[in-house]
Amino acid sequence: MKIVLDAGHGYSTPGKRTPDGMREYEFNREVAECARQELLRYQDAEVLFTHADDRDVHLKERTDRANTWGAQAFVSIHANAFGNGGWNTAQGIETFCPVATSPDSNRLATIVHRGLIQATARKNRGIKSADFHVLRETNMASILCECGFMTNREEAQLLKSTSYRQTCALAIAEGVVEYFNLTLKTMGVSTRLYKVQVGAFQMKKNADSLAAQLNKSGFPAFVFTEEEFYKVQAGAFSEEVNAKRLAARLRSRGYSTFICY
Ligand SMILES: [Zn+2]
Repeated sequence: MKIVLDAGHGYSTPGKRTPDGMREYEFNREVAECARQELLRYQDAEVLFTHADDRDVHLKERTDRANTWGAQAFVSIHANAFGNGGWNTAQGIETFCPVATSPDSNRLATIVHRGLIQATARKNRGIKSADFHVLRETNMASILCECGFMTNREEAQLLKSTSYRQTCALAIAEGVVEYFNLTLKTMGVSTRLYKVQVGAFQMKKNADSLAAQLNKSGFPAFVFTEEEFYKVQAGAFSEEVNAKRLAARLRSRGYSTFICY
């Protein structure tokens, strides 16, 4: 099954942040990465990202890639906002379907949205339809999840936390698994490595410069390629706690990190 995970926007997209500075893309990309890790544990699951860490990929480029690849599901991941940039009380999770009738999109939305509400216990704002480009121009089951409000103090704290991001990612992945009725791969016992990833770029020079900057700051880092991306990894550990410790040190220096395995 070909599944597109689309993290909305880019790091430098104007607006798109909490009043205290978390960028929406930080949330979106980590949820996409965690959901991908989960989905790849299943037979016949292929995942394509239509976003990139070095630019806000144009919406048309995102939907063209999904269509050309022959994706069977498209999940766009977002965090919501309300008002003019200050804190307010709007809250909860909502999932969008295309305006045009699409039973597949509706079924995918129903399953994923129910999972998100159950897993997070946030306010249920329901399933809605909207004329968003990524829903209108994709020719497969397509949904857009708004996983909480950046302009709500409580939800902004959640959106910043790794645990909430993982919760949303698992709910989305499990929804896709149910939608396609996927089965887990049968794997032998393997040693799991927890890798601390700091960036994923389309341009090699951006990955190289981040790795060089990290090395200069005393964090041994290297660049590797995976699925059209140049990724920067700062360490791999067999104990998750050690990966978390390094990730925390990197975050305290202003780097955006996540742990994958
Ligand atoms: Zn968004």
